[in-house]
Formats: sequence, C-alpha cells, structure tokens
Amino acid sequence: MGKATFTRENDAADAALRIIRTLALKPEPLNYAVWFTYCAGESLDLKAELDQYFKAKTPITPDINEALFAKYIAQALVGAADQATRQKLDDANDRLAKTLNSVMSLVASGTQGTEGFAQALEKFKGEVDAIADPNLASAVKAVVAETQKMVSLNAQLQSQLALASKDIGALKSDLNAIRKDAFTDALTEIPNRKAFNKQMEEFTGALKAKSGYLSLLMTDIDKFKSFNDKHGHVVGDQVLKVVAKTLAKNVRDSDFAARYGGEEFAVLLPNTRLKDAIVIAEKARNSVRAKDMQNRRTGENLGKVTISIGVAEYTLGESIEDFIARADTALYLAKQMGRDRVMSQLDLPR
Ligand code: GH3
Ligand code: MG
Ligand code: MG
Repeated sequence: MGKATFTRENDAADAALRIIRTLALKPEPLNYAVWFTYCAGESLDLKAELDQYFKAKTPITPDINEALFAKYIAQALVGAADQATRQKLDDANDRLAKTLNSVMSLVASGTQGTEGFAQALEKFKGEVDAIADPNLASAVKAVVAETQKMVSLNAQLQSQLALASKDIGALKSDLNAIRKDAFTDALTEIPNRKAFNKQMEEFTGALKAKSGYLSLLMTDIDKFKSFNDKHGHVVGDQVLKVVAKTLAKNVRDSDFAARYGGEEFAVLLPNTRLKDAIVIAEKARNSVRAKDMQNRRTGENLGKVTISIGVAEYTLGESIEDFIARADTALYLAKQMGRDRVMSQLDLPR
C-alpha cells in the first residue's frame, strides 16, 4: 500500500524517499537535502556528479553525501546573491513535509483498516480448527498470517515516516542556522557585509516601488592601527565589539547596523532624511567617545576610542555604488578634518 502511494505521488519528494530507502541511507536531513535536490533537478552539477558515481558503481557513502551537501547545497544556501535557490530549497522542504504528512495519514488509515480486519479474523481463529475442509482451513490461516504481517509492516513504515518528518523539521532549523551564520559577523555578532549588501538592495528596491528616504552612515574607528599596536589585537577585538554594540544601541530597530569591514561599520537608516541622519550620527559618535574603554582582563584604562562618520542620503535612481561612495567621501573628509567628527555630503565640494 505504501509503495503504491509513493509511485502515484510521482514527485521529487517521493523519489528522494525511495532512493534513500533503496540505497539504505539513513533518513537524515542531509540525505534528504541531497536527494531532493537530485530528484528535483535543482542542481545540474550535483546531478552530474552523482550520475558519475552511479555509472562507476561507486557506493554512495554517508561521507560522499555529506561532501555533496557541502559542495552543492550549503554553498547555494549561503550565497547571498542566490536568494532564488534558497527560496527553492525552502519550498522543496515544505513540499517534502507536506507529502510526508499525507503519506503518513494514508498509512495511518490503512493500518487502522488492517487492524480491524486482523481482529475480525482473530475471532475466527478458533473456528478455523473446526473447519473440516483442510484446504479451506489452511487458506484462512494464510490470510490471517498475511494480514498480521501487513499490520506490522505498516506500523514499521509509519514509525519510519514519523522519524523522517522529525528529520525534516531538524533540517529546516539546521538550514536556518546556516543561513543566520552566513549573514552574521562572528566577532561582533552584528550583521556582516553580505547582510549589508542584501539589506541595501532591499531598501533601495523598496524606494523604487514607493517613495521614501534612505540615509547611510559610514563609520570608521580612528587611529585603530596604533591602538592595536599599543594594546594588542585581542584588546582591539574587545573594542570592536563595544563599538558595534554601541552603534547598534544608538539606532532604531528599523535601522540596520552592520560590520562593513575590519574596523568599519555601516548603518542604513530607512525613512530618514540627511539632517536627521546627521543627528543620529552625532549621537552615535558621542556615545562611543563617552565610553571609558577598559581592558577586561587587567582592568587597565585604555582611554578614549573615537569614530569618524560620513553621512549620505540616497538619490532615487542612483547606483548603490555611487550612494556608498558619497558616504565614503564624507567619511574621508571627516578623517582629513581631524577625525572624531561627522561630515555629510553637504560638506563635500560640488
Ligand atoms: P584612521 O583613523 O585613518 O582610520 O586610522 P586607522 O589606523 O584606523 O586606519 P587603518 O586603515 O590604517 O588601519 C585599520 C586598522 O584596523 C588596521 C587593523 O589593525 C585594525 N583592524 C581591522 N580589523 C581588525 C580586527 O578584526 N581586529 C582588530 N583588533 N583590529 C582590526
Ligand atoms: Mg578603515
Ligand atoms: Mg580607522
């Protein structure tokens, strides 16, 4: 019964499950992802490599599966540009989960039916011995035995599918974790450059669709090289964390602060005009310089750390590169003017 259902629902999810069973692989999230992608034809490279294994009759070991996952699926998932692929995988997981659910309920109802049948037959068991015709007696016994076998097979299948469903849930959360990692800066735990680029695309894209404003702060820690030289890289890392936290705290929830590079941070301020963005920048700058930096290990006072900020407002229709370049030029001017200050596009020569 289970088999018939798999064949009828002839889609990638079923095919993937079938292969996993045929190859006697564990119904693990990773295996599902690989075989689903294979069956759905979502990665030609993955398919080509697997087909080569088949041709060479190379057994598909868990190690091979894992390597394929890393090479073709995890990569596609974390590639910021490849939003479409990630969406596809999400959809695929949803479809797989749905199919499994429906197969499970079918199996459940099938099991109920056979159970009832088995019980009914069980009642006749005693009477079977009384059947005079030996052929009929053995036929009835065979039916009882077959039915019992089916009941236990169905129960097995059902528990396998229950496990598979759980694995899919785990797969989803694994994938979410991978995605989150890919967009987070490991040191400061705020969004990274990749996340910034994505957010920038989204914010500027939204402006094209409907009117609004977008401002950008480009922030750079002052004389950070000599700070590192004096106090060491480890202490420098601590300071980066403090600056990141301070910046994030000084902007609204709807704003987006990211680590843009080494000691540079970028903040996107949607629905914000230049003059308001300058106020926010001043507030952030003052917050950072107000902090008394301390070496957490020795308690030594490290003095003040300051930042310079360049501010720009997006002009509808301009390229993202031009927008960032304007904020960068204002930041460069802030450095030239002596650091620990905010400069905006208004301060630039026209
Ligand atoms: P300026 O005021 O002109 O920005 O001077 P600066 O020294 O900050 O600028 P420069 O670009 O010459 O040096 C940046 C320094 O930032 C170099 C590097 O030691 C430090 N830096 C970059 N990334 C990290 C990091 O992850 N950890 C630490 N501790 N330091 C970093
Ligand atoms: Mg720098
Ligand atoms: Mg610097």
